[in-house]
Amino acid sequence: MFCDIGGRKHQAVQAEKKKKKIWDGIRGLLRLCALAFVLFVGLASISLPGALGWSKEGHMMTCRIAQNLLGPEAANAVENLYRWTSPLHFIDTPDNACTFDYSRDCVKDACVDGAIQNFTSQLLHYRDGTADRRYNLTEALLFLSHFMGDIHQPMHAGFTSDKGGNTVDLRWFRHKSNLHHVWDREIILTALKDFYDNDMVLLQEAIERNFSDGIWFDDVTSWKECDDLLSCPDKYATESINIACKWGYKGVKEGVNPSR
Ligand SMILES: [Zn+2]
Repeated sequence: MFCDIGGRKHQAVQAEKKKKKIWDGIRGLLRLCALAFVLFVGLASISLPGALGWSKEGHMMTCRIAQNLLGPEAANAVENLYRWTSPLHFIDTPDNACTFDYSRDCVKDACVDGAIQNFTSQLLHYRDGTADRRYNLTEALLFLSHFMGDIHQPMHAGFTSDKGGNTVDLRWFRHKSNLHHVWDREIILTALKDFYDNDMVLLQEAIERNFSDGIWFDDVTSWKECDDLLSCPDKYATESINIACKWGYKGVKEGVNPSR
């Protein structure tokens, strides 16, 4: 009995040590990211005009370098941190079901709709929390803005067996791609290149004109017409799976080239 307790205590101490080691590793990663970023931006601002252009690439590169320097336990812990968010980026409906049903498709709130509701609710109650909790609201806002993008990408509400088009391999013009990636990136890149001189601001302005005085003008008020704020994403999810069926999956078979 005592041995058992002692053993557990020993295990608990070991587990605590292990946890500390992992967090030290993660803290090390963050410090490395910060340090490398400061160095990188410092160098960039000395040697290049318009150094702000480096920020995204600088962040990516320094964090990748730091990530490669992580020990196996810390790397594992970081991966687990990422992993818990992975089901929150999409909705899987049963194959050929062009409808969204929260209780069927968002079990335990683990889907993009559930995530939006969760982070919206956190932000709505921002006055209630302690200073510590309010600090986490920045994270909630970042997640919310990311997931609002995801839920409006039709193939982020897709069929289960093809993983939202990810397993539907096809060609986009001359290179290999897949149906999910076509909607995630290829269409945008092609539109940018062919119509907007690779200028993202011009594309954004064109989209905005569609609702400031264009074809979506009449739709704007309906975007926030929901029974309550938390049910809004149900509507967005329904629209996305409808559009996925109407356009995304339409006429697409393995190996075809939808760019034609
Ligand atoms: Zn996402």
